Order: sequence, then structure tokens, then C-alpha cells
Amino acid sequence: MSEMNTNIERFRRMASDDPDNPMGHFSLGRELLASEEPAEAIAPLKRVIELDPNISKVYQMLATAQLKLKKAGEAAETLQQGVRIAHERGDMMPKNEMIKMLQELGASVPELKSKGPTQQVGEGQVVCSRCGQVKPKMAHAPFSNAQGKQIHEKVCADCWREWIGMGTKVINELRLPLADPQAQKVFDQHMKEFLNLE
Ligand SMILES: [Zn+2]
Repeated sequence: MSEMNTNIERFRRMASDDPDNPMGHFSLGRELLASEEPAEAIAPLKRVIELDPNISKVYQMLATAQLKLKKAGEAAETLQQGVRIAHERGDMMPKNEMIKMLQELGASVPELKSKGPTQQVGEGQVVCSRCGQVKPKMAHAPFSNAQGKQIHEKVCADCWREWIGMGTKVINELRLPLADPQAQKVFDQHMKEFLNLE
């Protein structure tokens, strides 16, 4: 419990120090939801959507908080919006989970147009998991392990560069001692969320 409270304090600080950065609000909302504080989680999760409406997972989290508060109507609206975004972005997992939640609620599932002809992916290009566009790959995998290989196959060079800047911010703002495996885990989680990797 105390570790969770420390995280909540960290993310609160991150969200207030850098209020236009969706990541602090996202982490704060997730942590509050995990510690059974759904009423408190709503505001930071809504703020994430204001700052970046394309993070499909946040709709699922917001709807979960709304359901815990017995606001089924609001949850259904959030899920319908989230399913559309997840569909647009090709985020299969949150999309399927949110469709399942809508069905369990007995609410209508939005009709989804099949996406246009698939874009041609040329040599040295990647369909980026973060920006959803076909863009140049990095010249090399950023790390030599399996995760590095996954990032190389899924993330474009531009988004990776953006993450490097953001990662530095995460380390500084959360004061993460990376030699500590727990801190390394927090850092990896931020990276996966930022790059939209499952
Ligand atoms: Zn990209």
C-alpha cells in the first residue's frame, strides 16, 4: 500500500509540474484506479483525453472508473468513443476489450467502417504503433535484446526520437534511480505506454 501511495504522490507531482504532458495524468489516473479510488481517477483521465484524444486505453480506464461509480450511461458513452478511436488507430486489444464491456452493459456497439486499402509498406519502413503512419524505421534496433527488436519492428524513427526526449523527462521528474529494478520497471511501463506497445 505504501509503495502505491508513493507512486500516487510522484504522479501527482509530475502532473502538476508538467500539466500539459498527458503522461503524468495518465499514470496518476491508472494508479488511483488501481488503488480503488475511482472518483479521484476521473479528473486526471479526462485531462489525458483533452490533451491527447488518441490514447485508446485511457477510454477503457475512464469507463472502468465510471462503472465502479455506477455511472453506466457515462461509461457506455466513453466506451463508444474509445472503440472508434481504437479502431481508427488499429489498437486491437483495447478495441476488443471495450466492445466486450459495451456488450456486457447491453449498450450499442458503434458501427465501424472497414479501413481503406492498406498502405504500402516499403523497404526500411514500418507501420508505427505510436503515430499509426507508414514511416522510416530506425537504422538499427535501439537495444540488442528482444524488446529492442520489437521496438525496431513497430516504432518509427521519429517517434523513437520523441521518446528519448520524453524518457529523459520521465527519469528526471520521477527521480528514477535506474539501477533499481523497480524504477526500471516503472520506466519500461512509461516507454510501452508512450510507444503504444502491448
Ligand atoms: Zn511513429
